[in-house]
Amino acid sequence: MYVYYWIALHSNYFTVFYNVSKEDEYLFKGKRKRLVEQLRLKGIKSEKVLSAIEKIPRHLFFDPTTGRPALLDHAYSDKALQIGAGQTISHPYTVAFQTEQLEIKVGEKVLEIGTGCGYQTAVLIEMGAKVYSVERQKTLFDKTKLFLPYVGYSGAKLIYGDGYKGLPQFAPFDKIIVTAGAPYIPNDLLVQLKIGGIMLIPLGEGETQEMIWLKKLSESNFDKKIMGNFKFVPLLQNKSGN
Ligand code: SAH
Repeated sequence: MYVYYWIALHSNYFTVFYNVSKEDEYLFKGKRKRLVEQLRLKGIKSEKVLSAIEKIPRHLFFDPTTGRPALLDHAYSDKALQIGAGQTISHPYTVAFQTEQLEIKVGEKVLEIGTGCGYQTAVLIEMGAKVYSVERQKTLFDKTKLFLPYVGYSGAKLIYGDGYKGLPQFAPFDKIIVTAGAPYIPNDLLVQLKIGGIMLIPLGEGETQEMIWLKKLSESNFDKKIMGNFKFVPLLQNKSGN
């Protein structure tokens, strides 16, 4: 049974990837250039972040089973879109903003909570980070684990698990990025951040979340800034991952 599922998943992605990679030459590259111009106007300054976004084929990251043509039209507008399993891929601006604030240097260890479709993971890989990413939805985890290498991003360590706990076995991390709205800042994540490290976490259970920027000054001291409001799906607790 599992083997059939695996083959079906592969062939599905392969077909989508093969068909759209040809189109990518013409249509999508132009769309990405325009998206990058929009992000510049909205205040993103990091050339490394902008060139990662200009390079990554975002239109391939959507669930190919959920209305692909309609989604493809929107892939390069600054919108959050469905990626399957009731989850969304963040707005390109949100991805760009969080990545810029992390100030990633080549070779740094970055923990991402909420792999989703892997788009943010791909941006982090393009920045030269060594990425560890945790996802609690098994279906999304399985898909993304197969999918990312297809689009050329095989370097990340993807883990099925609970983001609230982080990954103590791989800690400490230079940077931590949470890509779902958390009701509180999980202590395990604070512990797993290196001294001098930066964490970005959207905080709040309402319609929108406040983006919190934290820098770890010592084991018990943190510099903290609130970076404005964003909209995320919730960081879920105490639920089965399916
Ligand atoms: N970074 C993703 C954003 C996905 S949305 C992207 O670029 O596509 C947030 C993701 O967080 C969802 O996939 C959701 O399943 C996941 N998530 C929610 N609660 C979680 C938890 N406790 N641990 C790990 N992942 C979680």
